Amino acid sequence: MNIIRDPRAMQRECEALRQAGKRIAFVPTMGYLHEGHLSLLREARRRGDVLVLSIYVNPTQFGPKEDLGRYPRDEAGDLAKAESCGVDLAFVPQNLYPEGFQTYIAVRELEQPLCGASRPGHFIGVATVVAKLFQLVRPHVALFGRKDYQQLAIIRRMVRDLDFDIEIVGMPIVREPDGLALSSRNAYLEGDERQRALCLSRGLAAARDLFAGGERDTKKLTAAARAQVEQGATRVDYVEIRDAESLAAVERVERPCVIAIAAFVGTTRLIDNDILEA
Ligand code: AMP
Repeated sequence: MNIIRDPRAMQRECEALRQAGKRIAFVPTMGYLHEGHLSLLREARRRGDVLVLSIYVNPTQFGPKEDLGRYPRDEAGDLAKAESCGVDLAFVPQNLYPEGFQTYIAVRELEQPLCGASRPGHFIGVATVVAKLFQLVRPHVALFGRKDYQQLAIIRRMVRDLDFDIEIVGMPIVREPDGLALSSRNAYLEGDERQRALCLSRGLAAARDLFAGGERDTKKLTAAARAQVEQGATRVDYVEIRDAESLAAVERVERPCVIAIAAFVGTTRLIDNDILEA
C-alpha cells in the first residue's frame, strides 16, 4: 500500500494509473475506520483495479461549536485496516485548502432540510471537499454509505449537475448486532449513553412496524419513531419522513421515502435513517 500525503503527488499518481487504463475505485472518509467504512472498501475492491482511500478530517464541514478539535483519529490503526482490505493508495493529506481559498459548492435545495437546517454550512463543506477529492483522484467509481443519506443525495446531485464522470454507489448501513449504526462518533458515548443510543434504531423500527401494518400517514409514523427516540435522547434534533430522492416533505408515504433521525445522546450527535419502500 502506497501512502501519499501531498495533493499534487496524489493527482500525478492517479493520473498515471488512469492513463495506464486502470479503473479507479475511491472511498473518501474522515478516518477512525470501522466496519461501515470497511464494507465500502471491500465493495470498492471488487469494483476497481485500483482501490483508493482518503482519510481527511475536513475542517470546512464542521461548525464553529462542533467537534473538529476532538474528532477521533487513529492513523496507524486506519492504515492497518486499509491494508487488510486491499487498499492500493491511501491519501492522507495534512491540508487540502490553499492560502486564500474561497471557492465553495452549494447544492442549494438538497442542503436545506434535515441536517442542513441544524448544521448551517455543513453540506457546503462536504460538497466542496468531495469535489476537490474527485479532482485529485479522478475516480471511475466512488462509494458512499447510506448512513449519511442526505450527503449521498447531495453528492449524486452534484455529480449530475457539474458533469463529473463518476459512478456513485450507495452502500447499506452497517450496524452493531443490537442495531446501533456504526459511526466514528460512537467512540464519544460514555457509560449508559451507549445503551441509550439505541433509541434511534428503535425509533426507525417503530415506524417500520407501523408502516408494515399499512400506516402511510407521515405524522403518525414520525410520532411513533419520535416516542422511541425520546426514551433515550438528551435532545431530539429531528425525526422526519421525506421523499427518498428530492428530500421534499411528504404527508403520506406513497413513493419511496426516507425516515431520518438526528438526536443528541449526552453531547454526541447521532444520525440514522431507513428507507420506506411504498
Ligand atoms: P465518515 O468517515 O464518517 O466521513 O464516513 C465515510 C464514509 O463511510 C461515508 O460515505 C459514510 O456514509 C460511510 N459510513 C459511515 N458509517 C457507516 C455505516 N455504519 N455503514 C455504512 N457506511 C458508513
